[in-house]
Amino acid sequence: MAYQSVNPADGKLLKKLAELSDSQLEAKLAVAATCYESWRHKSYAERAKILSNAAEMLHAKAGEFAHIMTLEMGKRIGEARGEVEFSARILSYYAKHAERFLAPVKLHPTNGEAHMESSPIGVVFCVEPWNFPYYQLARIAGPHLMAGNVLVVKHAGIVPQCAIAFEQLLIDAGAPPGLYTNLLISHAQSERVVDDPRIKGVALTGSVDAGRSIAARAGRNLKVSSMELGGSDAFIVLEDADLDHAVKWAVWGRMYNTGQTCCAAKRFIVVEEIADRFLTKFKTALAALKPGDPLDEKTTLGPLSTESALVQLLKQVDGAVAKGAKLLLGGKRYDRPGAYMEPTILTDIKPENPAFREEFFGPVALFFRVKDEDAAVALANDSDFGLGGSVFTKDIARGRRIATRVETGMMFINNIDWSDAELPFGGIKDSGYGRELGDMGIQQFVNKKLVRVSSAEAPA
Ligand code: NAP
Repeated sequence: MAYQSVNPADGKLLKKLAELSDSQLEAKLAVAATCYESWRHKSYAERAKILSNAAEMLHAKAGEFAHIMTLEMGKRIGEARGEVEFSARILSYYAKHAERFLAPVKLHPTNGEAHMESSPIGVVFCVEPWNFPYYQLARIAGPHLMAGNVLVVKHAGIVPQCAIAFEQLLIDAGAPPGLYTNLLISHAQSERVVDDPRIKGVALTGSVDAGRSIAARAGRNLKVSSMELGGSDAFIVLEDADLDHAVKWAVWGRMYNTGQTCCAAKRFIVVEEIADRFLTKFKTALAALKPGDPLDEKTTLGPLSTESALVQLLKQVDGAVAKGAKLLLGGKRYDRPGAYMEPTILTDIKPENPAFREEFFGPVALFFRVKDEDAAVALANDSDFGLGGSVFTKDIARGRRIATRVETGMMFINNIDWSDAELPFGGIKDSGYGRELGDMGIQQFVNKKLVRVSSAEAPA
């Protein structure tokens, strides 16, 4: 399989890149391993210089980076620029704060003194998805490089130009050879990389299937791993919600990145009393979106990432309808070139319908009407996934109580303000394990070593 850049807005091939041969891959792993031997001993200030440079350069060239992303995977240009700027902020944040997160922590044993100290573990292998082509890379590069690790990264096959641009950014920022290495490799080669003794940790963001396969491989090798997988987040609207506010977030939460976000709002769970009013406004707002060129700032609906993603999603919608769901809006592709799908709402999805448990990775909202708050929580929790979720209510204390009861890694009250450089990101159940970003994220691939000085008598 070659790496291919295809513009999903018109289906035209932009670029094709060959995969690395095994010997090229071996050479890159050797350089990464050598780099670790010096990088691990650099001070935080020395590491921060390179990461800060990269952040500034990314910010300065945001338009250029965004343009590549929009061409390769169809993210609307305004959203693409936003992602690039956010990626720059992540790099800059860890350049400034990594030392604080990783400072020694004093413990208080019954006898003597003790502390925990942090040290890097080595070369970490990262497998990343196309839906946030730079943010995903910044999310691993900022924390893990600052922690003293070195990264080798297999990005998704459809965004090779973004992958190369990010690697070049770090090189231009002064990274030594091997600090951050983009690997254009196959799945079989990825498995061998996981097995390689020079690799000490494995991070994957992607689908549940990819997670199972790579996590099993890492487990067999007793290597620490983190898995950021899919989601089917509940968007709970209670009867006391500010309806217009909730509908605006609902549209954004489902339609940002044409619905291709792991923690997008996917299941809309609305209390009976407000359900009809919510649905009318939500449907009107979705129906008003107009497909267009994602490079045009005025476009309100971009394409899906690829033709095959579109075909798969249409099949999923047809399957849901065949098993009893009702189509309230959309459900078809647009009659125009490119991978464009109508905003879609499905209702009447019964638990026995396979769609009830599936992730819909695109502009498809599953709508559920429930009797009350308890029923909303029960339905939210009736999912194999556990990534994020949100609840809308004017009563913040009530929102907090519901947030506590929903079984996910993240909950948002009256917003779905997903990610922030300093906040941990990740899920439970089939959404994976481990966290990226924040204090927890930077500790993921770090040796936490106990050091104890004690005056206890030696055992006789
Ligand atoms: P995907 O098909 O699993 O691909 C993700 C990455 O894994 C790609 O680089 C892919 O390479 C690679 N990959 C897939 N199977 C592999 C295998 N058996 N061995 C080695 N590498 C493998 O997922 P996607 O369709 O690109 O992304 C969408 C999924 O990611 C959704 O489920 C979404 O919810 C999830 N996601 C989760 C998060 C999070 O933080 N929790 C964030 C973003 C996305 P190729 O492209 O070369 O196949």
